[in-house]
Amino acid sequence: MSAQAVLQRVYGYSAFRGEQEAIIDAAVAGRDVLVLMPTGGGKSVCYQIPALVREGVGIVVSPLIALMSDQVAALRQLGVRAAYLNSTLDFQQASEIEAQLRAGELDLLYMAPERLMLPRTLDLLAESPLALIAIDEAHCVSQWGHDFRPEYLGLSALAARFPGVPRMALTATADVPTRDEIVQRLALQDPARFVASFDRPNIRYRVSERGNAKQQLLRFLQKEHPGEAGVVYCLSRKKVEATAEWLRDAGFDAVPYHAGLPAEMRAAHQERFLREDGVIVVATIAFGMGIDKPDVRFVAHLDLPGSVEAYYQETGRAGRDGEPADAWMLYGLGDVVQRRQMIDSGEAGDERKRVERSKLDAMLGYCELDSCRRQPLLRYFGQSLETACGNCDNCLWPPETDDATEPARQALSAVYRTGQRFGVSYLVDHLMGKADERAQRFGHDQVSTFGIGRELTAERWRRLFRQLIARGYLDVDVDGYGGLRLSESARGLLKGQETIRVRRKVATGSGGSRRASA
Ligand code: ADP
Ligand code: ZN
Repeated sequence: MSAQAVLQRVYGYSAFRGEQEAIIDAAVAGRDVLVLMPTGGGKSVCYQIPALVREGVGIVVSPLIALMSDQVAALRQLGVRAAYLNSTLDFQQASEIEAQLRAGELDLLYMAPERLMLPRTLDLLAESPLALIAIDEAHCVSQWGHDFRPEYLGLSALAARFPGVPRMALTATADVPTRDEIVQRLALQDPARFVASFDRPNIRYRVSERGNAKQQLLRFLQKEHPGEAGVVYCLSRKKVEATAEWLRDAGFDAVPYHAGLPAEMRAAHQERFLREDGVIVVATIAFGMGIDKPDVRFVAHLDLPGSVEAYYQETGRAGRDGEPADAWMLYGLGDVVQRRQMIDSGEAGDERKRVERSKLDAMLGYCELDSCRRQPLLRYFGQSLETACGNCDNCLWPPETDDATEPARQALSAVYRTGQRFGVSYLVDHLMGKADERAQRFGHDQVSTFGIGRELTAERWRRLFRQLIARGYLDVDVDGYGGLRLSESARGLLKGQETIRVRRKVATGSGGSRRASA
């Protein structure tokens, strides 16, 4: 049967979407293929149809064991001979699947990478003709990525073990360098590459300065999403639990989700989110991979994500049905310092830390944007958007900016004059001329920057420091106390060769209440 015929007769769809047909053709022709498509874009048929068209069984590698039985059940509904092999099967069940495989009675076989790479499994597969090997969630092979799975590294051996079998790597998340990393680490041979559009025009991207986070979140939910389903991401498990409890007290149907909760509770909460209306999941990043719920109306971040990729992946869970949805985030000075310290004090090697720092810098840069947010987001994924999107906070409510060159120079000088080892609070006190015991002990009440910033409020100074850090003029020190140092790029500003404009604070301090006035 042709691919087109399979699409219509097996799936009941009238036409291919986007590049599905070209992807399938490449695999059917025996080529290795790399597919980047946002979640919900229709990746499954890209490997399922070649498995049905080509001779032999299609092997699907996925890290998501919990989803395999659902996927297989759905395929069986369509009359496809699908099965999975994983740790949830007992010996008897697994033996039956293996017998079906040997008898050539399977079209598709799902398994996790560690299962596939067992010598026993590889030997078993070597006995049967293979239609293709599909590697789903292929970004898990990226060592710098947020979903790295060491088991994925072993998959490169498939190239040598099954030389004539086309392999297809699929992912919904991969910036340009990660794509090359996937190709290299999976040893794809001259793959045909397909990159679908990553734009999600119905998602409205918004970033607000963090003030009273609880009140901001409450206003956002009450005014814009009463009774609607969404995800609230927090950095720590403790904060997840506290936030969920607090939202419940405020009358929302909120449940916590993080890796430290008992498995049954996690499953139950996920199930409620998927099956019931208007459930809010408060979660760490442990929640989300493989979640496909069409009517998620908002994804809120109470803490800064570690990278633009992670952010895009997480916000991409909103609005899969194409209806308007919000990607709403709060961001403040604490995030910058906390994230930098997490990286600096981590176990990772120097190279990895450098990569993480630059990913964080890109994320911070995104937060401090005063122009369209969608354009740089798409550029990050190697795509371009000619005109501003008209559906992000900066497009809808253009921020006003002020020249801040002079205060920025004062702030940088204060860092320098106090020895490049103090944190923001101390520096703000210093600029405001607060002659406390510490200032006197260090003799900082005698230096030229002491008290030169009295015409600005402490709040303004804190914002300015945040923006200077986010833009890379100041580095947060490794010692874990958040001391600030001048970076190389501070020189231009200090010498008066550069100017800087920063966004003016919005009066409400919350993205939530801005829609009404727009
Ligand atoms: P992904 O794996 O990329 O997240 P899926 O393969 O789960 O996406 O597909 C998302 C949805 O789109 C599914 O409901 C699927 O049935 C539907 N779909 C995929 N391809 C087509 C098509 N050609 N025509 C109609 N619906 C499609
Ligand atoms: Zn925009």
